[in-house]
Amino acid sequence: MKSATRSVNNESVQVIVRCRPINQKEEAADCSTVVNVYAQRGVIEVEHPKSKSESKIFTYDGVYDWNSSQQSIYDETIMPLVSSVLEGYNGCVFAYGQTGTGKTFTMEGGGNSEESKGVIPRVFDQIWAHIDRTTGTEFLVSVRYLEIYMEDIRDLLKSKNSKPLELREMSGQGVFVSHLHSQTCQSAHDMLKAMKVGNHNRTTGATNMNEHSSRSHAIFQISIEMAKGDTKSVKVGKLNLIDLAGSERQAKTGATGNRLKEATKINKSLSALGNVIYALAENSSHIPYRDSKLTRLLQDSLGGNSKTIMIANIGPASDNYDETIITLRYAYRAK
Ligand code: ADP
Ligand code: MG
Repeated sequence: MKSATRSVNNESVQVIVRCRPINQKEEAADCSTVVNVYAQRGVIEVEHPKSKSESKIFTYDGVYDWNSSQQSIYDETIMPLVSSVLEGYNGCVFAYGQTGTGKTFTMEGGGNSEESKGVIPRVFDQIWAHIDRTTGTEFLVSVRYLEIYMEDIRDLLKSKNSKPLELREMSGQGVFVSHLHSQTCQSAHDMLKAMKVGNHNRTTGATNMNEHSSRSHAIFQISIEMAKGDTKSVKVGKLNLIDLAGSERQAKTGATGNRLKEATKINKSLSALGNVIYALAENSSHIPYRDSKLTRLLQDSLGGNSKTIMIANIGPASDNYDETIITLRYAYRAK
């Protein structure tokens, strides 16, 4: 039995793992469950499909099995982050994992019921509950929604302008996407509407909707400006909610030519992100933000006094053993 535990304890980076339920296809194919989740100890154990006694153990800040509710994940991990954004800090939440493991389920939700609501709509609720009960402060809430596909940036709130947007850097302003539409919101409902418009635009331009969304990074950005009436001081909290491209290796799906080039670019930004988070968790003096558009874009929300949560999604079935181990290693290295 191989065991891995990290001694580095950097509170600005938190890594949690969520394992989805086994699905019908896997059951029909007689796949066994190879993942055990020990929530109390933050431990995930993965058994080798061919020899049960050979297992690998990984420890994280939190682990969630197939029975975990959207609400428990939100309350235990995301809510404290949003509270600090409401105090003027920056934050990022990433959903990482191979396609089909529950990234979108975790970030957006899995249906119309209250219980199935994912992280993003719950963030809206928390923000407006806070605003509604706070007196003496003026709030200005705005959202942007963009995607990175093959290192091209596209505005998801303005579908007409399909030309890729440029990343710019200006002293005092940091790195920003020029001409990215920013929409002011007055309620949780407004924010939900923006999310839906963006999701719609994300898929309409694509010839193959599933393939497109599994290969692009979707970034929902919330900015909250807070002006205290008496002091005239303004604080700004920024939150980035990111549904990353699928992390699957391309050899398995037989990509060639353009498809392979695409895969290389996707994996380049995922590995760049892993390297940045690893460097932050290790308190390294050099943080390699410049290695991808994703990490450049998020530069001022990764590191410094901002907080990052990585949710690594995995499936329980034996036939995904290799990908599951790769995801767990990536997530482990991120911490
Ligand atoms: P991804 O975005 O990583 O490709 P999805 O979020 O689309 O994956 O999830 C794939 C399928 O599995 C969907 O049908 C989704 O509803 C289901 N699913 C994912 N996670 C869970 C979960 N924790 N509980 C129930 N169903 C889930
Ligand atoms: Mg998805």
